[in-house]
Amino acid sequence: MDPIQTLVQELCKLPGIGEKTATRLAFHILYASTDEALALAKAIQEVKERIRPCSVCFNLSSIDPCPICADMRRDQDLICVVEDSIGLNAVERAGVFRGVYHVLSGVIAPLEGIGPDQLKVKELVERVQMKPPREVILSTNPTVEGEATSAFLSKILKPHVPKITRIARGVPSGSDLEYVDRMTLSKAFENRRDF
Ligand SMILES: [Zn+2]
Repeated sequence: MDPIQTLVQELCKLPGIGEKTATRLAFHILYASTDEALALAKAIQEVKERIRPCSVCFNLSSIDPCPICADMRRDQDLICVVEDSIGLNAVERAGVFRGVYHVLSGVIAPLEGIGPDQLKVKELVERVQMKPPREVILSTNPTVEGEATSAFLSKILKPHVPKITRIARGVPSGSDLEYVDRMTLSKAFENRRDF
């Protein structure tokens, strides 16, 4: 196939990129200097080769444990559970949380065949059993699957954790944390409720 067509097709697979945008991006890359275009290719190659899940929290990082788990100034007794590294980055950007994380790597979605076994649930239970935290904040996205996953987690974590909370409803229902502004997310953390 024509290399330009191949590039357009690959770009089309990215979220939020339709054919028109993909074509524009493809030509942008084509008209860029060789150095610039190859820097993009190299950056993609590097993330695939060097980024791995942290062995403690499963956040994606080039070092293990990740910089958040390794930072002893952070409150290691406070664990915020998020769906993925995108959610983690949203909470970090909001700057309201100084504890550590646990990245589930998805949510329970029976229709898609995703149950607790496909997620880092067993690892979370083992983690809190080994070193019980003071509090676990469930910060899955406020979607149907996110709420169901939080309800499930609160039940299985209850015997091991003294305090389990869920971020407040300030976050618009059905949206991803990624798209929530800092102010709203910070309020959602402040007003978290007991599960
Ligand atoms: Zn980590």
